[in-house]
Amino acid sequence: MENKGFTTQLVHADRLLNKPENGAVHQASTNSVLFEYEKIEELVDIFQGKVGGHAYSRQSSPSIDALQNIMTRLEEGVGSLVFATGMAAITTSLLTLLKAGDHIIVSQFVFGNTNSFAGTLERLGISVSMVDVTDVKNVEAAIQDNTRLVFVETIANPVTQVADLKSIGELCEQKSLVYMVDNTMTPPYLFQAKSVGAALVVSSLTKYCAGHGQALGGCVVDTGLFDWTTFPGILDALRALPPQDQALTQIKKKGLRDMGGSLSPTSAHAISVGLETLALRMERCCHNALQLAAYLATHEKVDRVYYPGLAAHPEHKLASQCFRLFGAIMSIDLKPEYDCFAFVNHLQQVLNATHLGDTRTLAIPVAHTIFYEMGAETRKKMGISDNMIRFSIGIEDTDDIIADFKQALEQL
Ligand SMILES: *Cc1c(COP(=O)(O)O)cnc(C)c1O
Repeated sequence: MENKGFTTQLVHADRLLNKPENGAVHQASTNSVLFEYEKIEELVDIFQGKVGGHAYSRQSSPSIDALQNIMTRLEEGVGSLVFATGMAAITTSLLTLLKAGDHIIVSQFVFGNTNSFAGTLERLGISVSMVDVTDVKNVEAAIQDNTRLVFVETIANPVTQVADLKSIGELCEQKSLVYMVDNTMTPPYLFQAKSVGAALVVSSLTKYCAGHGQALGGCVVDTGLFDWTTFPGILDALRALPPQDQALTQIKKKGLRDMGGSLSPTSAHAISVGLETLALRMERCCHNALQLAAYLATHEKVDRVYYPGLAAHPEHKLASQCFRLFGAIMSIDLKPEYDCFAFVNHLQQVLNATHLGDTRTLAIPVAHTIFYEMGAETRKKMGISDNMIRFSIGIEDTDDIIADFKQALEQL
């Protein structure tokens, strides 16, 4: 399997490597919350961590294991944990690895809820510096004696800033900081954050990994690159574990088990099925996005197109160096005389909906919806104009997508 291509591995690994029962092609999706053992000694050994096994599905179950195995392989990590949502993966990981008095550096362009959660961390005594991560210098300047971790997204939403991924990775290695990368926008077929030195890779499985908009989920993968023996936040009781197991075990025991943001087995199965077509969908939606971006960039009613695949994008070079393709998130500013609400209402095939990474193309005006709560001042800092519309480009046929945009623009 090791030397096979991305999709070959993905569609056959379950069957060949983990051998489901009765010749089943998929791992069984089991909804049982509890697991019984003939001899109580077996259950005791599981509780005491002497052997592996399932006891109660808040902390593990076979369907969850199957998805975790896939995610670990896709990110080439040493282990992973899945959660009920992407936010559960992010919050659970940070809340269990950090403590009051710590300082972290977070991209100022992060996802709205991650940004909001940074405020929660501050209330708990963990200080946060929000910096422009398109240049490693800003990250370096924010480092303090108590800095523990740097959190970035690969391509930010909605303005599509690309983090200075490789240089930040080198800086984190030099300073022994945990480098945590949210890889939601550029899932494994496009980019493996391990290649730029990430210690932990988090993602919302709800988006591209599932792709079908029928299940929420999140994941954190330990890449094995970080030496957790140097990290002060690991509990004494876990120091006896092999170094590469320390962080994930802490996130599992103190986070998943205590806080309970567990993924349902049904959702895990739905996400695993979605993942099989990840590469095909990414090829198609990224191709569509590039074609559409090129079309919109020359349109007289469009003021600006934000898409890393365009040569004029400020981080186009960074994106070309890191990603196989440029993703499928794009935003535009219409010229000020045109109304963004009227435009999206004229789109016939494109859906007015939040969410991204779906098979269908979606549109949403940004300032009035997903970034409304943070207020005008923060929006300005994030580069979000009042007339901005964000699109998540789907896998429809390219000509149909462009035709829909064309007719909607004509009507303005
Ligand atoms: C959607 C998203 C999340 C949160 O994921 P949910 O599954 O919706 O909780 C986190 N990070 C990024 C970059 C996202 O786009």
